[in-house]
Amino acid sequence: MRDFLLLGLTLLLTGTIPVTQTKPVAAPPAAVSIQVRRPPQKPYVLRIEEPPQEGPPSADESLIVLLKRGGEVQSVSMREYLTCVVLSELYADFSDEAFKAQIVAARTIALSTAQKHKHSGCDVCADPGCCQACQTVDTLRQKLGSGFDEAWARAENAVVATDGEVLRYDGALCEAVYFSCSGGRTEDAVAVWGGNVPYLRSVASPGEEAAKPYASTVRVSAEQARNTLTAAMLDGAPPTWIGETTRTAGGGVASVTIGGARYSGAQIQRLFGLASTNFTVAAEENGLVFSVLGSGHRVGMSQFGAEAMARQGSTYREILAHYYTGASIERYEA
Ligand SMILES: [Zn+2]
Repeated sequence: MRDFLLLGLTLLLTGTIPVTQTKPVAAPPAAVSIQVRRPPQKPYVLRIEEPPQEGPPSADESLIVLLKRGGEVQSVSMREYLTCVVLSELYADFSDEAFKAQIVAARTIALSTAQKHKHSGCDVCADPGCCQACQTVDTLRQKLGSGFDEAWARAENAVVATDGEVLRYDGALCEAVYFSCSGGRTEDAVAVWGGNVPYLRSVASPGEEAAKPYASTVRVSAEQARNTLTAAMLDGAPPTWIGETTRTAGGGVASVTIGGARYSGAQIQRLFGLASTNFTVAAEENGLVFSVLGSGHRVGMSQFGAEAMARQGSTYREILAHYYTGASIERYEA
């Protein structure tokens, strides 16, 4: 096929066109819209497999993803999969460059997940708690209403603009994790999951205040605290319960001592359903109040931080370079 493509490009450059062209099933729409200046016809008897096109063929159109969604496994092109993912993961009014950064991260995760055989019988699922959110076209149409056509076109264009691009570090696909909002600074992977990942470093993530929610508050009654923090000695009034808090490089709670018992920030987050580990705890007369910034695990790329960078004029490449320290963007060949 590569020889045919070279032939096609040569024909374009020399200004001649083949007599017979066969449009492949997976040809990208852009390929058929290329304008060729027609020279005097010559009786060529060549046959090429793809129409002439600018640049290499689409990797995303050629790659089929086995997607488990709603109890069924469906075959969709990587292009369609990513278009659905970006509109499921981000708000439709996010900038093009934030779309592209999300798409490169999502493509990397999809390929990495498939390579690791996380699931049997499919490459990825549509559960955001497991793989990545990927709503159906019908669901997106309902969600976006009259804005669907424009949002879909923008998302698909962003996928095409980053065709086949993935994040690699030392030649291997990255764990290109992302989350909603950090509260001002992301976390080192080691602070959250215990393993050091060189490209998942704590970095500043300003401008996220537009996130929903950026800040949240959780109140816990004294009785609820006693029932939940069973290792703690919660006698007396709540103001006497709270001890030392230590923090990670990313501003999250590494540990907090309550009622003489030491808990990790992740434990407290899970026990009380906090949006992130970036919290402070204070005592009230009748219980505890957690003031939380950001949401999600806060490792990797902040979606609202990416949007803030895009609105400040950063390209998707700059966004990805910021959040995935030292990773490179490379193109996979389907
Ligand atoms: Zn999954």
